[in-house]
Amino acid sequence: MTRIRDHDLENGLATRAVHAGQEPEPLAGAVTMPIFQTSTYVQAGLGRHKGHEYARVSNPTREALERNVAALEGGTHGHAFASGMAAIDSVLTLLSAGDHVVCGENVYGGTHRLMEQVRSRLGLVFSYVDTREVAAVERAIRPATRMLFVETPTNPMMRLADLAALGALAGSRRLLFVVDNTFATPIFQRPFEYGADLVVHSTTKYLNGHSDMIGGMVVTRRDDLGEQLAFLQKAVGAVPGPFDCWLVLRGTKTLALRMHQHDANGRRIAQWLAADTRVPAVFYPGLPAHPQHELACRQMSGFGGMLSFEAGSFERARRIVERTRIFALAESLGGVESLIGHPATMTHAAVPKAMREAMGLTDGLVRLAVGIEDADDLIADLDQALAP
Ligand SMILES: *Cc1c(COP(=O)(O)O)cnc(C)c1O
Repeated sequence: MTRIRDHDLENGLATRAVHAGQEPEPLAGAVTMPIFQTSTYVQAGLGRHKGHEYARVSNPTREALERNVAALEGGTHGHAFASGMAAIDSVLTLLSAGDHVVCGENVYGGTHRLMEQVRSRLGLVFSYVDTREVAAVERAIRPATRMLFVETPTNPMMRLADLAALGALAGSRRLLFVVDNTFATPIFQRPFEYGADLVVHSTTKYLNGHSDMIGGMVVTRRDDLGEQLAFLQKAVGAVPGPFDCWLVLRGTKTLALRMHQHDANGRRIAQWLAADTRVPAVFYPGLPAHPQHELACRQMSGFGGMLSFEAGSFERARRIVERTRIFALAESLGGVESLIGHPATMTHAAVPKAMREAMGLTDGLVRLAVGIEDADDLIADLDQALAP
């Protein structure tokens, strides 16, 4: 089980990002954590080894990443998985057949698919609610409810869940409170401070930051959950290879720096779009006009680079996403490069149209994952794409 070292929590977040979990390597003194590309470890005698026996169970490169991300979140145990979905599946595998989960209705599409098409066949029961409404969450709780799973802000409507209120509710009803913190990252949102038991990440996104691998993480502050997650890594085996762990570790070193640039660019672009008469609506929690702006200011220390806007119609949305030159038309988010997407036909195509429209996800909605380029260039790119 990978527990952080106590000194990993002593410093500020930018310092933790660079150093936590990474002592200079003892053999040659390498400053950067090496890639321990091995499946097994030699034993000096029966039961005598250096803490590693088989790489599904533990790997030094993976442990460095696990300590690093756990320290960034302010947790004590980190567990890396082969993808964000594998991380979320492991969280669900903490439960047993018959257990009930209350989940946000606007969560990542893959999370909804995993719950509805895989885990419900194996006996878990799910309810989906608008997690903006604490009362709706409370009404959905049943005697068999064991877990509350939320994402905030949500994709692509940028709706928020009140972490303090939901953390208090989950605590009083003895539910495991799980927060998918992929969008905000620990730099801008700290779910453990609001009572989260488990924080999950798709490290594919901001933590890696360079769009060159797939991975996931689960962090906790509870020894019992840390032990169970380590057991699941070993028993199920959905673990990442050392090279992918190393790529995320390399990414997290600049996480604080990158997030501040994503945030600065996101704010400028949201303001520019909001002031443009060609754009009927902009969804970004950092805009004072966002209906939950006050909550965003309370529980987030930055708003990041994710936003969406209404283009007015499918045809206009199509023209915009096909005309940008710097913003690349692609799924995913969190990399240094800016991406543009059309949720109705891309990330949310599997969601029935009636359900999409009920949540405001129209065929005219365009999503931006704002990168770290020069904001002036990004604005000029959007300006030419929006031209009639
Ligand atoms: C991408 C994403 C996931 C899934 O992660 P993968 O690494 O693609 O498996 C889960 N949650 C959120 C919020 C995501 O953006």
